[in-house]
Amino acid sequence: MSRVYNFSAGPAALPLEVLETIRNDLPDWLGSGMSVMEVSHRGKDFVELAARADATLRELLKVPDDYSVLFPQGGATMQMAMAPLNLSAPGDTADYVVTGSWGKKAAGEAKKFCDVNVAADASDKNFTYIPTESSWRRSDNAAYLHYTPNETIAGVEFHFVPDGDVPLVADMSSNILSRPVDVSRFGVIYAGAQKNIGPAGITLVIVRNDLLGRARQDNAHLMIWKSYADSDSMTNTPPTFAWYVADLVFQWLKNQGGVEAIAETNARKSSKLYAAIDASDFYTNPVAVDCRSRMNVPFILADAAPTGNFSKSRSLLAWPILRVIDRSVVCEPPYITLSAKRRLMH
Ligand code: PMP
Repeated sequence: MSRVYNFSAGPAALPLEVLETIRNDLPDWLGSGMSVMEVSHRGKDFVELAARADATLRELLKVPDDYSVLFPQGGATMQMAMAPLNLSAPGDTADYVVTGSWGKKAAGEAKKFCDVNVAADASDKNFTYIPTESSWRRSDNAAYLHYTPNETIAGVEFHFVPDGDVPLVADMSSNILSRPVDVSRFGVIYAGAQKNIGPAGITLVIVRNDLLGRARQDNAHLMIWKSYADSDSMTNTPPTFAWYVADLVFQWLKNQGGVEAIAETNARKSSKLYAAIDASDFYTNPVAVDCRSRMNVPFILADAAPTGNFSKSRSLLAWPILRVIDRSVVCEPPYITLSAKRRLMH
């Protein structure tokens, strides 16, 4: 068997131990004579799995008791609509801090349901920085403030939690569980699973319980967070296989020493990569140093126009840099269409 080091965009690598457990479990999960995909989600074994996933996630992120942990489908993109539909009434204003393309997408989605005030927008410098918090133009009565703690494409990560007394809504799709986070500072945290949790098909939402009462009542049942909170996320047939893998990943994270230990590994890995890029005169990382992502590292040609195509031979020149980081070498063939290259370290 040969496994590559997968640093690609899209779904991320899963730990080999998890994949091996899945392989062993698959035909006969817990002696049921069925795979986990074939058992009833209301049966004792699956209900126990769901309870363990909830408990382990809570332990990993130290989720306070007054928060619900939900596992809807629909990915982070569906939460970009669910946030305004659950937290605002028509005509309310929501503040959005846009530091990359995912935050921009979230603001665009919210505009369909409420008034959006873009409190800060880093597109003037091609999403390479975070505008200072004191410069944000926040509205007086915002229903909530939405931001993206790690912009996956731009490689911009917040190393602080914004202040304020309106509920903070955070799209943590690409840095959830990569570092400790004080959940009590947030109203809602959401994340698509396929980077740091498990397969696509399940989504994580952590929501403070007092916010569950704000949903628009004419909303579709599956678009209301409370529907999931009231049914242990079994408001309809859940994505059982994805949930099972998420549970295995949570246990794996716990066995690694939890989020604190993983954060150290991520800091070490990313600083090696940044050091290699900084030492290179061929590539450069365009992101302001104080908000460089520990998860996603873009690098561009140091002396080339910011757009245009790589030639194949130029692209291959990336390899000496990547070899510096030893076993973190990317094994996908270098892709050659963009001048910006990116390594994802989920
Ligand atoms: N937000 C962020 C920060 C992301 O990185 C992604 C996908 N990589 C999304 C949203 C979209 O997620 P999904 O495909 O689960 O809807």
